[in-house]
Amino acid sequence: MANLTTSRYSLVERVTSLIDGRRVAPHASASDVPIVNPATEEKLSVLQQADTAEVDAAVRAAREAFDRGPWPRIPLDERKDILYRIRDRMRSHCDELAYLESVNAGLPVARVVEQIGRASRNFEFFAEVASTLSGETYTGNRGYLTYITREPKGVAALIAPWNAPLALASMRVATCIAFGNTCVLKPSEYTPLSMLRMVEVFHEAGLPAGVVNLVNGRGPVTGAALVAHPGIDMVGFTGGTRTGAAIMQAAARHLKPCTLELGGKSANIIHESANFDRALDGALSGIYSNNGQQCLAGSRILVHRPIAERFIEAFVERARRIRIGDPLRRDTELGPLCFKDHFELVQSYVEIAKHDGAKLLTGGRRAAGFERGYYMEPTAVLAPSNATRVCQEEIFGPFATFLVYDTLDEAIAIANDSRYGLVGYVWAEDLNVAMRCSREIRIGTLWVNTPMVRELRAPFGGYKQSGVGRDGATSSVEFFTELKSTIISIDTPPLARMGAMAT
Ligand code: NAD
Repeated sequence: MANLTTSRYSLVERVTSLIDGRRVAPHASASDVPIVNPATEEKLSVLQQADTAEVDAAVRAAREAFDRGPWPRIPLDERKDILYRIRDRMRSHCDELAYLESVNAGLPVARVVEQIGRASRNFEFFAEVASTLSGETYTGNRGYLTYITREPKGVAALIAPWNAPLALASMRVATCIAFGNTCVLKPSEYTPLSMLRMVEVFHEAGLPAGVVNLVNGRGPVTGAALVAHPGIDMVGFTGGTRTGAAIMQAAARHLKPCTLELGGKSANIIHESANFDRALDGALSGIYSNNGQQCLAGSRILVHRPIAERFIEAFVERARRIRIGDPLRRDTELGPLCFKDHFELVQSYVEIAKHDGAKLLTGGRRAAGFERGYYMEPTAVLAPSNATRVCQEEIFGPFATFLVYDTLDEAIAIANDSRYGLVGYVWAEDLNVAMRCSREIRIGTLWVNTPMVRELRAPFGGYKQSGVGRDGATSSVEFFTELKSTIISIDTPPLARMGAMAT
């Protein structure tokens, strides 16, 4: 793939909702949200916010498609064919989708291309999962046959964040619609461009109208109206922990089940037995890839004292050489942060770190040579203790926090001393170290001697305040389907004959 800096993919003037297979007509409104290129701070487009009435129309379309439309009823093979066509069309539109995501979210385009590979694979994978579902039968109650069927659960509200829109929203949509459900997707108000095109691509691939509806707007307006709508049966949310709690509270009013993928502050344990060079590569990409904006970031790097000085020195030297630049260039390693408030928030942690007694090892400023754009230098601090804010709060930027430990017990205790429990990493050639981390760290996923590798078959989600529920083959089936028991009488057993007794 070439650089996309000279691409001429057109941008829509107004990003509107897409309901029942059609774009909502554009109209000027006081609640418009500007869509900004974080690399240049220029306005790219305008988001037309969906109000309560528009959200209602989207939910009605999804309800109609679920209650009376073909999607939950067509033969599984036909549904599977459409999901495969979505996969193929996402792949054939990879450059266009990558351009829209990169220009809007500031993510390095090479990274986005990888994520589109993953996004398209989600549709293939969950099509296969859905097509191999089977039921159970029970015959132990003599004279009766009891069989269990799985049915789609209904209409979902799917809410996605801005840090990897295509990868994360596609995951939510694929796990939902593969089982015959329909949905209303609300992407982040900061990154709607690739999302609108993605939903158009679904329809171009033959997805029936009303199965995936898109509403655009701010969380507290459009998102809140969607979650509260009585026509919604369940909520799938990926985003921050505080928002997740608010959504769960709102959903509880109608007892809507929620699956929540939330924040993290994950430990990356570098043991003295680690392969030094691989651990170094893993630690750098663990915190600086995706512009540091990833829930899975290994943001607390715990280094074993015997190798700490050498490791931190090597890390800092490499961090200073990371190639910062235009996200549309294929060789860019670190692009701008996604939007201005977030850039300022991440930068504010430099002072917070110093105030808490941490030592600034590198970075901390706007990247040199970039007067415009939300570019921040790769930053690293050495914290005096895990109690500091830079060890406890999710910063969500290119900001690594180092801690030095003496014993494995201490490293495990530090890893667990967090309100989050999403993922963790350990680099150790000593098998016992890895096995103890696996047994004793309270997290949803541990990677041993590898940076993040996603296994779609395995459950993915968080302990503690990192989430509720899991994605993954079995877990998605559990969340997005209902179980029904049907009990049939085979013989003609005697029945109670109420009202038939002689008076
Ligand atoms: P956010 O919580 O601010 O927003 C996420 C989405 O929720 C957006 O679409 C937003 O508009 C919407 N929203 C906000 N308030 C709402 C409300 N009251 N009702 C309904 N919707 C509302 O999160 P963000 O800043 O977009 O994303 C970053 C966060 O997401 C980080 O904490 C990160 O760790 C987390 N994240 C988690 C995972 C995971 O898989 N665990 C993956 C990616 C990101």
